[in-house]
Amino acid sequence: MTYKAYNIKSFKELNKEKKLLPENEIKEIEIASLVFPFKVNNYILSLIDWENYKNDPIFRLVFPQKEMLKEDDYKKLIENLNDKEKLKKAVYDIRMSLNPHPAGQKENIPEINGKKLEGSQHKYKETILFFPKQGQTCHAYCSFCFRWPQFTGINELKFASREVEVLIDYIRANPTITDILFTGGDPLVMSSKLLRAYVEPILKAKIPHLKNIRFGSKVLGFWPYRFVSDPDSEDLLNLFKEIVDSGYHLAFMAHFNHYKELGTEVLEKAVKNIQNTGAIIRTQSPVLRHINASSEVWEKMWKKQVSLGMIPYYMFIARDTGAKHYFDVPLYEAWKIYKGAISKVSGLARTVRGPSMSAAPGKIGVVGVSEINGEKVFVLNMLQAKNPELVDIPFFAKFDEKASWIDELKPAFSEKFIFE
Ligand SMILES: *Cc1c(COP(=O)(O)O)cnc(C)c1O
Ligand code: SF4
Repeated sequence: MTYKAYNIKSFKELNKEKKLLPENEIKEIEIASLVFPFKVNNYILSLIDWENYKNDPIFRLVFPQKEMLKEDDYKKLIENLNDKEKLKKAVYDIRMSLNPHPAGQKENIPEINGKKLEGSQHKYKETILFFPKQGQTCHAYCSFCFRWPQFTGINELKFASREVEVLIDYIRANPTITDILFTGGDPLVMSSKLLRAYVEPILKAKIPHLKNIRFGSKVLGFWPYRFVSDPDSEDLLNLFKEIVDSGYHLAFMAHFNHYKELGTEVLEKAVKNIQNTGAIIRTQSPVLRHINASSEVWEKMWKKQVSLGMIPYYMFIARDTGAKHYFDVPLYEAWKIYKGAISKVSGLARTVRGPSMSAAPGKIGVVGVSEINGEKVFVLNMLQAKNPELVDIPFFAKFDEKASWIDELKPAFSEKFIFE
């Protein structure tokens, strides 16, 4: 398959020909896509059951829905459709009201020799996040994602080499760093040539404390052909092999939201090809209403991942951004989903941790609900913390069936949470 992306305009053209969606539905999606990102491709379209698209998790994953907007906001857009300036302002205002920059994103930016590493984040001692500029887009867009403020499109090798030199200096100067995590967007939208411009200098630098190179990517869900039949697939796989042969652990952090993304032949082939390089695939996903809010989905997904040799890693609570009200799953329900699934899989899939909130102080896991001295409480746990001393000390919050983020919880048995 040759990659073909569709924006709303070209999808409308396609729809005229293929009649996938009724006209009124397209209109609603078009209006929602003024605010939410929209991009699909031919592979993703082939995963959708068009006879029953309304309930199809992949359809929900990539087609923004009218219901993702508040009624008033939707009205505001409709009213201003014919006035370009007013429409632009309405879109901007709505986007700003959706908290596009959740807490902590602009924090923890590292600095070395007076130079700021703008495309990096160093929050946990062991792992530095790196956002290569050219990787700040994706093969399609998830409707729940709000990274669009950072989606850009520069394509410059020179830029890559400048960036990576500062990054190497920083890692060298910080011996606690064992991992570098390339993230985005999706770093694997980059050509192998561009990716090499980032990776090869790191290999050449031979920093003794750097052990693990990770790629966070949704490409296996959105475009598995990347490792099978793209023009530079072979070179990309060779690059993976070079990383492994240089003595690094190459960790492919794969983002899958539903087992439907794991059912194609090309996906299996892509997974095999990656594994043959010596890379290890670990999997993660947020829990999302309308897409995967049931134990059965997670149970099936984890079982399938393990049977393909992947290692389930994290289940996340969706961040407090974007159409949160639409995708929202309260902490209590998320924990029940997790528990229902994890209790039905073998130990090989019980490597997964969750449900976890990536909040400012760290990754906060919901261990469960318990009753202590007659009081119903959430038991919580820091899975990762800016302050490593806090990791793995259980702490408590008053039970709240509706709460869906840490800032909606109140501490139990103490005045403050341990991270406060
Ligand atoms: C999740 C995360 C990491 C990686 O954490 P691991 O538990 O090592 O996978 C690193 N930095 C940030 C900011 C994160 O949110
Ligand atoms: S693949 Fe990741 S960064 Fe890209 S739209 Fe989806 S969630 Fe956002």
